[in-house]
Amino acid sequence: MFEHYKATQEDFAAIEEGIKTVWHPKLNFVFKNKKLTEKVIVVSYDCENIYLWSQTKFPKLKPFKCSLKQYFAYQISHQLKISDEYQLGWRAGLQPSELIWLFFSKMKTDDYESTSFVSGGLITPFITLQKKMKDRKNNPYTTYESYLATIVHEFGHAYWNQKMFASYKKQDVRKILVRAEECYKGQQIILSKLKIPLPPDYNISEIFAFCTEYQAATLFWPNHKKAIDQDSFSRIKSFLKTGKVNTIFLSAHYFAAIFGKLIFSAYPHRWPIKLLFPKYF
Ligand SMILES: [Zn+2]
Repeated sequence: MFEHYKATQEDFAAIEEGIKTVWHPKLNFVFKNKKLTEKVIVVSYDCENIYLWSQTKFPKLKPFKCSLKQYFAYQISHQLKISDEYQLGWRAGLQPSELIWLFFSKMKTDDYESTSFVSGGLITPFITLQKKMKDRKNNPYTTYESYLATIVHEFGHAYWNQKMFASYKKQDVRKILVRAEECYKGQQIILSKLKIPLPPDYNISEIFAFCTEYQAATLFWPNHKKAIDQDSFSRIKSFLKTGKVNTIFLSAHYFAAIFGKLIFSAYPHRWPIKLLFPKYF
């Protein structure tokens, strides 16, 4: 449906408004480590180009007008067919995966470590396609606010993921690998002496992203908050009526809306710390 869609000024403005929200001072307690938020490159696409918003200057890329202070906007032309699936939503990371190769080949680098992406569709196709989703009644993601909230949600993922990786210091990873090698050789080891951090749990990343979005909705978008509440509320009611667990555990997002609401309510100011602190075996 949107394979031949061309981005408009309205599409760009919505993305920039989403990024602006991430930097709102009221969200400082969520995105505390600004270095992690700075690293996130925002990517969207239409039938001709991919569009990037970045705080890092990329002199090799073609710039275009950006209204955000501290950000640069770039475009890279492509020959790919971007299917509706990618316009329908946003994700932490760069997808479709061909775009990763396109970006790094243009940049003439393979410095994957210092880059973090969030990517997704433009607001016009996003809202049209969300409205068409038949299996989603009470879908909260059909409004302008919900589109901004989606971008904020993905920044939540990008932040949490980076923070978790940062908790694995290189020398600790080395220690873990050496011990694992010893185990494979049949040696006995005592885990408690090692202090091995639990591997990143992406359900927690989802809960963190939910709480980030929910926090922004509470502060800036009362209608989007109401829509999330209604959606979750009806799912909980249906579970309590039917006892069908899959109404909740069917998707990581549904799961996060339940656990996230509990943690958000119990720790209104400390939920970021609760969800970021690494746990150990
Ligand atoms: Zn998510």
